[in-house]
Amino acid sequence: MAFKLEPGIVTGTALTDLYDYCQEHTCALPAVNVIGSHSANAALAAAREAKAPVIVQLSNGGAHFFGGKFLDKGPGGVAGAVAAAHYVRSIAEAYGVAVVLHTDHAAKKLIPWVEGMVEAGEAHFEQTGKPLYSSHMLDLSEETLEDNLQISADMLARLNKIDMGLEIELGVTGGEEDGVDNSDLDDSKLYTQPSEVLAAYEKLNSVGSFSVAASFGNTHGVYKPGNVQLRPSILKNSQEAVAAKHGGGPKPLHFVFHGGSGSTPEEIAEAVSYGVVKMNIDTDTQWAFCHPVKTYMDEKDAYLKSQLGNPEGAELPNKKHIDPRGWVHLGEKGMRDRLVQAFHDLGAFGKFGG
Ligand SMILES: [Zn+2]
Repeated sequence: MAFKLEPGIVTGTALTDLYDYCQEHTCALPAVNVIGSHSANAALAAAREAKAPVIVQLSNGGAHFFGGKFLDKGPGGVAGAVAAAHYVRSIAEAYGVAVVLHTDHAAKKLIPWVEGMVEAGEAHFEQTGKPLYSSHMLDLSEETLEDNLQISADMLARLNKIDMGLEIELGVTGGEEDGVDNSDLDDSKLYTQPSEVLAAYEKLNSVGSFSVAASFGNTHGVYKPGNVQLRPSILKNSQEAVAAKHGGGPKPLHFVFHGGSGSTPEEIAEAVSYGVVKMNIDTDTQWAFCHPVKTYMDEKDAYLKSQLGNPEGAELPNKKHIDPRGWVHLGEKGMRDRLVQAFHDLGAFGKFGG
């Protein structure tokens, strides 16, 4: 069965349908951390090539960077996130792709950031009948389970009124991202218990549409293998625990795989088979953007030392070598190509009609 979404931002029941479709067809979508129009364009170009929707997301730091590091971080994080959403909304149709717009980890201290974005989303909804974003994430995994679920339920009730979903986190993703370092954490924290997932389902399922970032040994960043063992069976056991008590088919939960970078295709396929619908990818796409630029800078070194003069002539202009449109686009293409591979790894390439 083909599943064709109109180009533009996917929200409300269309988003739930999209994730259900992913589960029925055993595939997931890459969620790409973007920090500016260049990386957003690379994500949209990859989706166009894969003939599939893409999830474009911003961390708090990424949103701040999108608006410019010249801004103060608090207001800049909100303004940058709003600007990014408007940018992606306005350009997605030109690329002809469907986009899920999302924001990444927000611990308790970043709740004001999320509230700022929700206020902008509510205003946008009042004007247009659509939210600005498809969903936000709250990561209250450092709080007690009870606090995590209560604050998440309150936020979801607010989001649900404007057709938005919520991603929550249970257990802690290891490694380091956006300045949050969990690399020293006790191993037991890196594995979510199915009982926690069951409690989340019971608290949130009647409130609105939500997804769960469960920890199964996954880490942010790419490290030498062998430190933490990946146990995707936690996802399977959690689905079974919820289904046994509440029904909802074999996969009642939409799972999110954080720290997808550095995972093998086999690990990704196993996680997807247990109901992962979204895999976050950041470190691998950062590398894919950076590396072609480094290669260019190395190869063109003699042409980049001054505006005039290179090995072909002491007075020749270097303008065409210096122009950022040349070398930034190499980064964009590197990132696009890495994401096309992610669509393949996640089983999503070409699975959406088109
Ligand atoms: Zn994450």
